[in-house]
Amino acid sequence: MSVTVRFAPSPTGQIHIGNARTALFNWLFAKKAGGRFVLRFDDTDVGRSRREYANQIEADLGWLGIAPDLTVRQSERFALYERAVEKLQTAGFLYPCYETPEELELRRKIRLSRRLPPVYGREALKLSGEQKAAFEDEGRRPHWRFLLPNFDADPFSPKRTEVRWDDIVRGPQTVDLASMSDPVLVREDGTFLYTLPSVVDDIDLGITHVIRGDDHVTNTGAQIALFEALGATAPAFGHHNLLTTVTGEGLSKRTGSLSIAGLRDGGIEPMAVASLAVLIGTSETVTAYRDMEALAAQFDPASSSKSSAKFDPVELEALSRSLIQSMPFEEAAPRLAGMGIGGPKAEPFWLAVRGNIEKLSDAANWWRIVAEGPEKAELSEDDRAFVREALNLLPPEPWDRETWRSWTEAVKEKTGRKGKALFKPLRLALTGREAGPELADLLPLLGREGISARRP
Ligand code: GLU
Repeated sequence: MSVTVRFAPSPTGQIHIGNARTALFNWLFAKKAGGRFVLRFDDTDVGRSRREYANQIEADLGWLGIAPDLTVRQSERFALYERAVEKLQTAGFLYPCYETPEELELRRKIRLSRRLPPVYGREALKLSGEQKAAFEDEGRRPHWRFLLPNFDADPFSPKRTEVRWDDIVRGPQTVDLASMSDPVLVREDGTFLYTLPSVVDDIDLGITHVIRGDDHVTNTGAQIALFEALGATAPAFGHHNLLTTVTGEGLSKRTGSLSIAGLRDGGIEPMAVASLAVLIGTSETVTAYRDMEALAAQFDPASSSKSSAKFDPVELEALSRSLIQSMPFEEAAPRLAGMGIGGPKAEPFWLAVRGNIEKLSDAANWWRIVAEGPEKAELSEDDRAFVREALNLLPPEPWDRETWRSWTEAVKEKTGRKGKALFKPLRLALTGREAGPELADLLPLLGREGISARRP
């Protein structure tokens, strides 16, 4: 079967770099295997899920270079889940429970005080038809639990039942089904918790590999049992480590500034985000890869550490800067054109300024300086006279990279100024700034006419 993966965010907020990590692990895994990538919105929680967030997530993935082969929404697939519920009920895998959260909490405390594991004791399995009818008459509605296959004949005598899988990221894993409560799959109001729709969709969509955060490791035991209860073979699983902030807190969809949209609006390059999201917390060196193909070649899910990794935005800025500063003109050109930077000067302009900017949009300021004139320069009376004298010595065009050297040599000879006293007022007069791209590169761009217009 060809590789099919899915990225399954709940559209309850903006995705952050940790979510992007999951998406990218799946995307690169599929890419390397020539497989398919499904975007699945886990929006069964209609109260918290919002279409705007789903749209934003699609846009964020697109910006990162991820193009799903298929997009599905769980909110449009309830009929499938209903059918699975019926199938499980018929097979005796799903049983109704009537406990309130308070009753469950009380039982949990009693078990703990008796030094028993705080798992659900399957008391609801003992309910007679009359007792259930009495609860219904009281107005209680059942929630439904999945009867984990962790016993021989007597569900009240669970025994150690190991579910094993060879995790793509973490290697061999074991979960004991006797160590957990039968998971609730359907709530009192008939809505579904995450587990059942996820497994049903993974079966229906032919998912071959489930790659997600390691907060789902324990769920995997019950999910593998559920795949089998539904008559399916479980896919392969991979659980990557999670990212935290520099101070060690978990990332949350509410931490707006670390959202993918926030990083994009801050001028961070998408491949910087992708490179860091994929390589952080692995044994690979974190460098910025220019495109997905190059990043895919470096991608090895098994090289992730098992402990969480700290995400530092400063590292992201450095990667982004390195991508900008080495970006070939062909790659920058369409984005520059979008900022009104085009024509024959665009390429030499880009090559002159890219080493001096933090984000691509900074190029607009330099274009303005080149095309329209310098930002306001504060020159002393002395320096003004010096610059005027220097401009009188400008050689005739055509100009090239050598022009700056020959011109400033002539200026030095004529005025006796050298070093900072010579270069600083010239730079200020020509650009209005004390630092920036090499003047040797800027001079031919400004041209004789442009420079004469800058006469102070
Ligand atoms: N919606 C779940 C989450 O965001 C998906 C988990 C999974 O990939 O199975 O945690």
